[in-house]
Amino acid sequence: MNLKAGKSREIGLSLTKSSDSNNEGFKVRLQKPSKIKSYLDTHVIGQEQAKKTIAVSVYNHYKRIIYQSYQSDVEISKSNILLIGPTGTGKTLIAETLARFLSVPFAIADATTLTEAGYVGDDVENILVRLLQVANFNIEAAEKGIIYIDEIDKIGRKSSSTSITRDVSGEGVQQALLKILEGTISNVPPKGGRKHPEQSLIPINTSNILFICGGSFAGLEEIIQSRIGNSDFGFGKNKNVNKENTTENPFSNVRQEDLIKYGMIPELVGRLPVLSALGNLSDSEMLRILKEPKNALVKQYEKLFLIEGVKIDFQESALKEIVELSKKRNSGARALRSIMEEALLDIMYDIPEMVDVDKVVIKRETIHKGCYKLVKKNKKRKSA
Ligand code: ADP
Repeated sequence: MNLKAGKSREIGLSLTKSSDSNNEGFKVRLQKPSKIKSYLDTHVIGQEQAKKTIAVSVYNHYKRIIYQSYQSDVEISKSNILLIGPTGTGKTLIAETLARFLSVPFAIADATTLTEAGYVGDDVENILVRLLQVANFNIEAAEKGIIYIDEIDKIGRKSSSTSITRDVSGEGVQQALLKILEGTISNVPPKGGRKHPEQSLIPINTSNILFICGGSFAGLEEIIQSRIGNSDFGFGKNKNVNKENTTENPFSNVRQEDLIKYGMIPELVGRLPVLSALGNLSDSEMLRILKEPKNALVKQYEKLFLIEGVKIDFQESALKEIVELSKKRNSGARALRSIMEEALLDIMYDIPEMVDVDKVVIKRETIHKGCYKLVKKNKKRKSA
């Protein structure tokens, strides 16, 4: 990355440094870990340890970028992040929120789509094309971006045994990912797809791109458990765990060796030195997810109804019921939205016609049967 004199820039991080004569006009703001964490807190409920770990490694990552632009005798190595945790617990959300806070380009890639196409290098490079497109083809911005690679666990070798029966395509993708994760100059076709000889390629240096990989790693807890030798450890293994205690994190003791046993190649695990485990969300966390984040579902529906001139009042019992139902779907907080959509469908269908309604009360029964309570106003409101 060229951070030479005269190129004033701000990458949404704080810490101003411009007195160095070699970096005249170079202004970078680097946010402290506590600031990063506070911002994450406004969007991501719970997952305290993960948010803290990420805040520190992101801070170090951008610190490394800044100080490498000065003369540096010690090379600070890149610390890509691996997020492990059940589906719908906030892995993608954390990465997304982070990128928004830092105002850096952010792209999401799905590792399983790479598997389908085999392990041809071009396909893996398409991850970079997406980032470049998000950055409006500003190469310098893209080179400081964040890429979230989802479902990284799905490209593990199918068999954890070190036998000859290796899943070659999964391993091939892992090999191809290695290079870009570590840092290389990758020549990408600007529109993606396969490279053509006549096509002009854009070189992208990946050394300062932060890669955050995420995966649910189903079954990993058993590997961890067998290493630890504690039969009471893992998802639902402890019969005494009460409902509210489901946050107990089955992956909190994960080590790199467990991931290798799971099917990740050691080199790739080595390129993801920051390991962070997300736990299952407890009932109260799910309830908070409905109400508290900046764009919480309750707030979104309140807004939607307000545009219609109607107040919507969610009773606590209704919200608890939504949590209960979504737990049954086993997809973390992911199911909350669809349950809410299903429950409110009839109301949202009817309300635009009902010009004399002041308020809708969402009760526990609304979630099951769709029946709701209307509070009518004295004067007719204007139809939207
Ligand atoms: P995954 O862990 O599978 O990547 P996501 O981060 O995509 O899950 O979560 C799916 C949706 O569920 C998010 O868009 C968000 O609305 C909600 N969600 C999940 N976890 C949390 C959390 N910890 N705090 C707030 N919302 C969450």
